Amino acid sequence: MYTYLQERGYYENLYDKMTVADARRGQYYYDDFVARLAKKVRQLDPPDDLSRPGNALLMNMAYMQFLGYELLSRYEQREQTIGEWMERDRARDQRISNTELKHESPCQHCGKLGIKCSYKILMRRDQNEELVLLLFRCNNCHKNSAYWEDGAPYEVNHDNESENCEIPTKSNLPKKKTSKKHDIKDIDDPYYWNIDPEHDPDYAKDRYKFCFYDEHWLKQLRDVRDGLEKMSKLGRYFAERDQQKDMIRAVEQIKKLSVVELMNALTPVIEAKHYAKVNFSAPQTGRNLTMEFSCIDTQPDRQAYQSTRDLKRIVDEEMLLTNWRLMSDGIHYRLGVLSGRLKAIENPDEIRKLAEKLLQSGKIRLPKETETKKSNKNDSAYTEIAPDGTIIHL
Ligand SMILES: [Zn+2]
Repeated sequence: MYTYLQERGYYENLYDKMTVADARRGQYYYDDFVARLAKKVRQLDPPDDLSRPGNALLMNMAYMQFLGYELLSRYEQREQTIGEWMERDRARDQRISNTELKHESPCQHCGKLGIKCSYKILMRRDQNEELVLLLFRCNNCHKNSAYWEDGAPYEVNHDNESENCEIPTKSNLPKKKTSKKHDIKDIDDPYYWNIDPEHDPDYAKDRYKFCFYDEHWLKQLRDVRDGLEKMSKLGRYFAERDQQKDMIRAVEQIKKLSVVELMNALTPVIEAKHYAKVNFSAPQTGRNLTMEFSCIDTQPDRQAYQSTRDLKRIVDEEMLLTNWRLMSDGIHYRLGVLSGRLKAIENPDEIRKLAEKLLQSGKIRLPKETETKKSNKNDSAYTEIAPDGTIIHL
């Protein structure tokens, strides 16, 4: 029988080899990044230095992005992944051991029954899921036959003239898949992916580092990760706080007009556009306070459509930054008399929504905070999240 399950050390070596390969690729990009950054800061006027805290923090972030997060994650998942690999192989062995053909099958060469199963293996049929392939030896003609576990005969490759090698045998069985990853395009050098632990001069050293045999190094990298996480939380906190502040300031810009204030605000602007006898009815109380208004167009040659549109625009513009809105039934026109209804928004949530909409559409413009305030905020964020412990030279 083909046996999948190996000693634990086999999986550990495989896992670590993949870790080293990942780490070398990440390190390659990180080194490249640092080289370019160093060149850039040297060209500044005055020239800058990578060891300055701001640059060191940038390098820490880059290191984590290129390989740090991946290494910590691989370290933390090592036991579980190896356990899953072993469990998968144990299940494969169990499946192979439990699989028999339901019906006795004839020799694929002489057609006689009585062939003996000599070998079993898991293989893919037509790129589909893995099936057990059973190999048989004929006592009559001494040739090999092969059947899939569901009874289908193994498709013989007729391009191959040699009689026996068309059926898998122990010697020509497909090799186990290796962990080669060819996905990296920029690095052709097998040093980065086709690692040979036996002959690779740097392997032991790299494994020691990247698989965290040095626990002090592990702790340092975890501190960096925690520091960056804290910084990002703090960044989110400031962003949300700024957003909330903006909302409060936007709501403050919406004037809450009483009925009399509304009348006093609207009447002169309507009259200024050649409407007369602006009149308001008694307010109606319901879910919202509503109030009808009317006026007379004093320009006889202004058409109904134009007159209605003008009045609507005047009212909408004047009410834009207040808690009053023209109701959706709009403005009515009859023989030069125009009327409409206004609605008050009193609920704080609705006013907030109104403010949000106006802010998003750019109709409310918030005065900019002074530069001093902003730089103070950044300073406090920086000192809070970048104590010496979080910046290390990687
Ligand atoms: Zn036979």
